[in-house]
Amino acid sequence: MRISMVSEHASPLAALGGVDAGGQNVHVAALSVALAARGHTVQVYTRRDDPGLPDRVQVQDGLEVVHLTAGPALPLPKDDLLPYMGQLAGGVLADWGTEPPDVVHSHFWMSGLAALEAARSAGDEGVPVVHTFHALGTVKKRHQGAEDTSPPERAWLEPSVGRRADRVLATCSDEVFELKAIGVPGSRISIAPCGVDLSLFSSSGPAEPRGRRHRIAAVGRLVPRKGVDLAIRALALLRDEGLEDVELLIVGGSSDSAGLESDPEARRLLALARSLDVADRVLLRGQVPREQMPAVLRSADAVVCAPWYEPFGIVPLEAMACGVPVVASAVGGLIDTVVHGRTGLHVPPRDPAALAAALSELLQNPRYARRLGVAGKQRASARYSWDRVALETEQAYQLALGTAARPGRLQSLGGKAL
Ligand code: UDP
Repeated sequence: MRISMVSEHASPLAALGGVDAGGQNVHVAALSVALAARGHTVQVYTRRDDPGLPDRVQVQDGLEVVHLTAGPALPLPKDDLLPYMGQLAGGVLADWGTEPPDVVHSHFWMSGLAALEAARSAGDEGVPVVHTFHALGTVKKRHQGAEDTSPPERAWLEPSVGRRADRVLATCSDEVFELKAIGVPGSRISIAPCGVDLSLFSSSGPAEPRGRRHRIAAVGRLVPRKGVDLAIRALALLRDEGLEDVELLIVGGSSDSAGLESDPEARRLLALARSLDVADRVLLRGQVPREQMPAVLRSADAVVCAPWYEPFGIVPLEAMACGVPVVASAVGGLIDTVVHGRTGLHVPPRDPAALAAALSELLQNPRYARRLGVAGKQRASARYSWDRVALETEQAYQLALGTAARPGRLQSLGGKAL
């Protein structure tokens, strides 16, 4: 199949850990690699955010990243990108020329707008559009209220993407309910979760050296909704209970110390740690390159994921694949990935006391923690390999090709491995 991915802000080639670079970048990159490895030809269209970027980057056989001009060639917050989606659609359409792909798969609501515009303008048959939201404005608004910086148009344009796409991919079962609530017909929704790179994230391999203290780790973009402050509060509660020898390693944010010092969320977290008198046991590491992440995860006794809400959450899967137990708030994708009492522990969101109790249970029962870690590793490899996710995604593409009812298109694909 010839597949076009559209990922306006999240380039598969970007460094991870910054405010707008996280799971979506990983998802688009790993899914594209897995689809190319299955014999498909994949092009990823993303916005040029640096004038020095080449027009095209051949990543491997069958996989190319295409940088398109859509607005100024500068890093811009994703919430400022809406005005440039028409330009992005024009770039995609021009690149297709007279040979549109078999399917276009868009990521995040604004890419959906661009993909739909390009797909509907591409000749008589058009191109079927499969869409993954990665995050939903309704959920964001519910949790972030006035702090939500999404453009107001998201409220009506995002549901319209869901209603117009030929197929919508939810990454977890919780998202299916949210999609139905914004008017996406259940018959057009498939589930294809995010996966984990099992060749990189595994329990065999070195762990980053650490001291004698127990270590819990919180990994992700440094944004308030990730709930890292709750882990700091839990650390103070553990100390109050007499568990003194515990450190919290926080990974994410800027890659250099100057950037980290000026990061408002990093400053807020450090101020909180000081006010709770645990600053001596909080390590703010900043951004860690992907290749070093497994060693960092393996150095932890437990990984804590305490978001207020989480569309999917790849970090818990990465920890599970490394054999490390996860303490996760029971929200969004974490409800599916973490199995309470088997691969980790669920806690209610925004509840530092519950977080502390779960961490204390793991730190004081290392055999139990190990058992959870082993089961987590098994679950990650059995359910969440990118190869399996690519297969499920292909099945959704096939459904979109079928339901999009474009005469001639299915015959033209006859005989090819879909
Ligand atoms: N990540 C990384 N370095 C960092 C921080 C994060 O490589 O310093 C990676 C992390 O390992 C994971 C991704 O960024 O693969 C975050 O994805 P997740 O789905 O957990 O969160 P999102 O950023 O999508 O909200």
